[in-house]
Amino acid sequence: MSHPDRSNLPIRERLGLRPIINVSGTMTALGASIIVPEAIQAMAEMAPQWVEMDDLQRKASATIARLTGAEAGFVTASCASGIAMAIAGAMTGTRLLAIERLPDDTTGLKNEVIIQLGHIVNYGAAVDQSIRLAGAKVIPAGTVSVAQSYHVDEAITPATAAVLYVVAHHTVQYGMLSLEEVCEIAHAKGVPVIVDAASEYDLRGFLARGADIVIYSGHKFLSGPTSGLVAGRKDLVRAAYLQNRGIGRGMKVGKETVAGVMAALDVWERRDHAGIRARETAALHLWLKALEGLPGIEAHIIPDPTDNPLDRIEVNVLPESGFSAAGLAATLAAGSPPIIVRNHEVERGHFFLDPCNLHPGEAEIVAKALRDVLTSKDRPEGAMQPARKPVSGALRWPD
Ligand SMILES: *Cc1c(COP(=O)(O)O)cnc(C)c1O
Repeated sequence: MSHPDRSNLPIRERLGLRPIINVSGTMTALGASIIVPEAIQAMAEMAPQWVEMDDLQRKASATIARLTGAEAGFVTASCASGIAMAIAGAMTGTRLLAIERLPDDTTGLKNEVIIQLGHIVNYGAAVDQSIRLAGAKVIPAGTVSVAQSYHVDEAITPATAAVLYVVAHHTVQYGMLSLEEVCEIAHAKGVPVIVDAASEYDLRGFLARGADIVIYSGHKFLSGPTSGLVAGRKDLVRAAYLQNRGIGRGMKVGKETVAGVMAALDVWERRDHAGIRARETAALHLWLKALEGLPGIEAHIIPDPTDNPLDRIEVNVLPESGFSAAGLAATLAAGSPPIIVRNHEVERGHFFLDPCNLHPGEAEIVAKALRDVLTSKDRPEGAMQPARKPVSGALRWPD
């Protein structure tokens, strides 16, 4: 019996994967972002070539420096890797034997990292694990709702390697110390400040405001390949880069990724940000219109919580709609095509629609699906399901 030739099918179909539409944002679990064509081209061009990796990373350093205002930079596997490597670098400096001894032997090294308690977020993994991966001890400062200067100031000891400052919609958005305040306290005692800005548009602001190192994801707003960018003070970046001889080995990136990130950064510099914003805004208005007048649905535009130039729709789902927010999200995810909404706050009765990862025509498909599901007379099983975060699926993988 001959197998049907599947080689001409689009890759998702060929592999038997659901053709999802992503209105949830730059989610690792969904493939992070749509890689820009220039980065894809650079990756394909670099893939078959030999190259001296330290030289390639030197070129990447110059590109990262140009875009961020940093003295130096490098590319690693992810922002989470970048955090671990930057912290390890703050601990070891350029001591090569110390680098080989991490993470379990920190004899003679500074091995404490201070982080405001309201910054200990989970983005699929917990940020404090990136600290512990380097062999450092997590020193939480303040409480979940309040951190004051003395919480950081008095936590600094001769063993303090760094303060980690997290910028994300996941952090507690009130009561925390600002980056400026943290830098002032830490720098007065000679302690570097490392910023996790994985998902931020602003490539210059955090260093300009005093951070010693800032780390971005290459695969979020930059729309590059999966990667992390570490940028900042040259001595600290060098020490972090040297971790490739130690804990960074398992976080390494290939030549194609470095080339792809460099291309994505080039594109970012000349990207038509206003044009993209206008397209995103058009999608938001389309969705608002689709949701208008539907019983039990209240939708409005809300700005990004960390001031990225990006708006989303917040969809409040009231019982009169016949759905819970979780039930509506699950129904859309089970549809054809499956539509994945931004559902991390679904237990609060709402989800978000994020317009920043759409292919042409998808905004219309989402609008129609919203309207179809909500105006249908039937309510599917599970329409009123409570919000749950089951791990049972993960525990069954690969089945
Ligand atoms: C996504 C994210 C990370 C992790 O980024 P990766 O590059 O996927 O490792 C870290 N911190 C924050 C705030 C994030 O949003």
